[in-house]
Amino acid sequence: MNDFEAKNVLVLGGSRGIGAAIVRRFAASGANVGFTYAGSKQAAEELAAETGATALRTDSADRSELTATVAARGALDAIVIAAGTLVLGDPLQIDADAVDHMIDVNVRAPYHAAVEAARRMNDNGRIIVIGSVNGDRMPFAGGAAYALTKSAVQGMVRGLARDLGERGITVNSIQPGPTDSDMNPADGPMAATMHSFMAIKRHARTEEVAELAAYLAGPHGAMITGSMQTIDGGFGA
Ligand code: NDP
Repeated sequence: MNDFEAKNVLVLGGSRGIGAAIVRRFAASGANVGFTYAGSKQAAEELAAETGATALRTDSADRSELTATVAARGALDAIVIAAGTLVLGDPLQIDADAVDHMIDVNVRAPYHAAVEAARRMNDNGRIIVIGSVNGDRMPFAGGAAYALTKSAVQGMVRGLARDLGERGITVNSIQPGPTDSDMNPADGPMAATMHSFMAIKRHARTEEVAELAAYLAGPHGAMITGSMQTIDGGFGA
């Protein structure tokens, strides 16, 4: 499985969850992988030791730190932006600073990282942002701010696809539904409610999402751009 041999890949938010599965997928395929983390130093170091990828401490909420890290990786073949946070709750009660931090990490960071990557990206490069099916549908209360961030990703992807298409660079969002991770454990308190919305009533595995990222990043993804690739077991159907 050397389909990404010597490709230069950066995963933002790779220490845990979906991002970590994407790091494993690309590293196992021969890519030269760097990944960022913010708080999970031990998990990041363990993943680096396991995969040979390079762990880079970079807070996505800090724009200059983020763009410096992206620039330092040079001409990328693919950037996968997986770093994200989830803040749910009654909008009348929810902490406004937590909402703003989520907007920083889920919206501002993907935009600035994608643009910075594009400055020196190789032709036919790939920009992949992990959005969410909640960009399309918000079937429960308390998710307005999170849905806002994931809908914003959709507009960014459509626009940047137009901006970068001339160089063969594709820009897409992967929109997972419930996916087993620290953010949304398959045995968590919301699991039964989430499964009730789904045609296939289980959480996705992070590896299933990583496989979609590999498809988009590979040669068969060359004509897929400006699109939202939903992988949600029918959550939004
Ligand atoms: P996890 O909470 O399991 O992992 C989040 C990852 O993002 C960690 O590696 C974390 O690193 C990193 N991260 C968070 N904040 C920052 C930051 N400020 N700077 C750098 N890295 C950061 O979440 P998931 O893997 O489940 O989620 C990944 C993406 O997928 C998110 O965008 C999420 O919204 C989206 N998603 C998830 C779904 C799910 O059901 N799990 C469903 C739909 C979308 P560290 O711990 O080192 O800070």
